This record gives sequence, structure tokens and C-alpha cells, in this order.
Amino acid sequence: MALESSRSAFARARRSVGGGVGSGLRAAMPPHPLFVREARGAHVWDLDGDRYVDYVMAWGPLVLGHGDPRVLSAVSEIAPKMQVVGTGHPLEYLAAEAVLEAVPHGERLLWSNTGTEAVQVALRLARAATGRRRILKFAKSYHGWHDTVYAGMAEDDCDRPATPGGAGQSASVLDDLVVARFNDARLAERLLGDAVERDIAAVLVDPVMSNAGVEAPSPQFLSTLRTLCDRHGVVLVFDEVIAGFRIARGGAAEKYGVLPDLSVFGKAMAGGFTQSAVVGRAELVDQVTSGVVHAGTFNANPIALAAVAATMRALADPEVYDQLERISSEFEALVGAVLGSSPDFGGFNRVGSLLQYVPAGGATGLHGTSGLWAEILEGMLRQGFLFMPSGKVFLSTAHTTADVEATAEALDRLLRKL
Ligand code: PLP
Repeated sequence: MALESSRSAFARARRSVGGGVGSGLRAAMPPHPLFVREARGAHVWDLDGDRYVDYVMAWGPLVLGHGDPRVLSAVSEIAPKMQVVGTGHPLEYLAAEAVLEAVPHGERLLWSNTGTEAVQVALRLARAATGRRRILKFAKSYHGWHDTVYAGMAEDDCDRPATPGGAGQSASVLDDLVVARFNDARLAERLLGDAVERDIAAVLVDPVMSNAGVEAPSPQFLSTLRTLCDRHGVVLVFDEVIAGFRIARGGAAEKYGVLPDLSVFGKAMAGGFTQSAVVGRAELVDQVTSGVVHAGTFNANPIALAAVAATMRALADPEVYDQLERISSEFEALVGAVLGSSPDFGGFNRVGSLLQYVPAGGATGLHGTSGLWAEILEGMLRQGFLFMPSGKVFLSTAHTTADVEATAEALDRLLRKL
């Protein structure tokens, strides 16, 4: 793969677009971000016309692959009729009914555009319900880029005053955060034991630590959080922006049998369109009628909601999750077997169709990795396989055994040369 046109496109983009890419984290791709002219199924084509097997899947949304015909047809049907209307329309409740039907604790929802926005709404609902201010999150977990939660991003932030995730963030909101350690029930017990004194309104947890190594919860961890939240009057919020509708149709609640008060969904719910939602107990969500502000010009836009309704219909087929499990375990087995020859490879963490490359002796975080994975990233890109800098691997129903076999063969060739 020459990558020539992507290189010059990136140089041109940097003259008009800050950082040259639409989201800062995408710039970390070596040797530079790929510029795509078309995407279909499990593949993308770059500006030179070269085809890549795509394991980025837009950082998570494309459980059904790029351009699923059912989603595209629903969008094409609604787009000429209305785009954004600033008042009610039937897709608001039709799509909501489809989401609530899938989610075990789904009594009511609110529509937003991005995961970041929906997390903010969920925290506001929790604060309003409890009259408390602080949020307990887990070190390294990513919940969007707003000041309150893009903090405590390092392992040693646990049980200490939180540090901001980046420059330009307000220091004054850091006191709103209490940082615990994922899968450490004793620490959670100690911190939540004083929830009233500590002023803790909510526990915000990504049940599978999607952006911090993909770590499955230990058997009792989520139920311990549930018990502690009930005991101390704290709202339990699952951030399922990546995991939702990917690890199971009913998300973490279905997979692990623990019901949060609220879940935040995004990505996979809308099959590639921009939509997020806060889903959960009606009495919490209904606070929007008694003082909690939830606003947004583009909330519940008909085009995205047509995509949500079509995606939820497609995900209602249990074969989707069987297929995701099959292709993901094939990837883990075949690619893992090739990598197994390297002392630098520690294994894959996997929850359903969400995988994480783990280097020997160490977990990874949001911002990518170095060592062998950095070499794999660029070496595989040059052979037509697109992976994420962080080592996360997203599979979809569009990926085939042939894609995975070709990946394993290319990786084998690459490792022999390194
Ligand atoms: N929460 C989690 C777990 C995420 O992975 C993300 C984004 O990757 C977000 C929240 C923020 O979502 P968005 O990028 O749509 O704002």
C-alpha cells in the first residue's frame, strides 16, 4: 500500500483542520491517518484506491459493518421527507420503543447526539436525584472529553485527588471526582461507605473498561457496586457507549445480570449515524420535566433515529450475536496463534466482539501503545489491514473467516521480517 495520497491529504488537511483530523485521538496513527474515499462491509478504500480490512470500525459503532443496506434504506426513506424539525416526530418514540425493548432496565430514555453529551446528562440526573455533587469513576476509564470525567486517566490516580486528562481543563471541577480502581471491591466499599460525607451522587462505570485494556468485571464486582449504591443512596450509571449492543443486545445488564439505574448508549445503537441515549429508570429520566435541563438542537434528529430503529431491528436477530462471537473467537485464535511466537505478546483480552491486544506484562490505555504493537500497526497498514493505535480490535458481522485468515497470514509474514 503506497499511502501516498493519504500522506498528501493529511498535509493539506493540516492547513485547514486543526490537527488535520476530526478527532484528536485519530492523529496517533503511524505514519499518518489513512484518508478514506469509500467504506463498505468490513473494508475501506483509501484515496489511492487500495483496499483495507477494517478493524477500526469507526472506533466502535459499526457492529453490522459499513453501509448496512437495512440502515441505509431507512435513512434514504426519511431523508427527503425531513432532516431536522425541532419538534416531535414519530421516530422519536418508535426508535425509543425499540431501544427500551432491548434493554432490561429500559423504562424511559433521553436522546442526545454523542456519548460525551449523554454522559453529562446522566450525571446531571444523578446529581438532581440525590442532591449530591461528586461522581465516582474508575482510573483510566474514558467517558468522553468533558472536564469532569476526562480526568483520573492514570492508574495511580486511584483514591487521590483527580488530575486532568489534558490541558485547558478546569481544575475546579476535579474535586467533583472520586477515583476508584476497577475490580477492586474493597476500595469501592471504603469509598462508597462514606458516600453521604463524600457527597457521592453516582458511580460511573464502563462495565468492561472498553478503553482501558478491555477488562471483564470479576464475577461479583458489578453486583457489589449495585449493593453499595442501593445501601448508600448512590445512582449506578453504566457507560455502555462502546459495549452497548456490541457485547450483547441488552448490553452489560443482560450479559452480567446486574441492572444499573441508568445506562448511556451511543456508537453501535445507530449503525454509523450520530445518536446517543441515556436509558433507565423512569423516575430518574423524568426529572427533565421537573427542573433538569436536557437540550440540544440536533437531539432526536429523524435521520439518526431512522438509523437507530433499523439497527435495533437488525440486532433483534440472535444470529447477529452468534456470528459476532464466532468471528471474534476465530480472530482471537488465529491471530493470537501467530502472535504467540513473539515474547512481546501477552494475549488478547476479549469480551464478545471487542478485543484488546495486550503486550507481555502490561495493560494498555486510551492513547495507544508502543513496542511490538506500534510495528504491527504500521506494518499491517502497509499490507492492507487497518488497526487502532490503542490495540483495540473491533469485529463486525461483515467480517468473514477469509478476512481473518488473510490477517493472520499477513501478520505471519510481517513478524518473520521484524
Ligand atoms: N464513553 C465511552 C466508554 C466511550 O468509549 C466514548 C467514546 O469513545 C464516550 C463515552 C464518548 O462518546 P463520544 O465520542 O460519542 O462523545
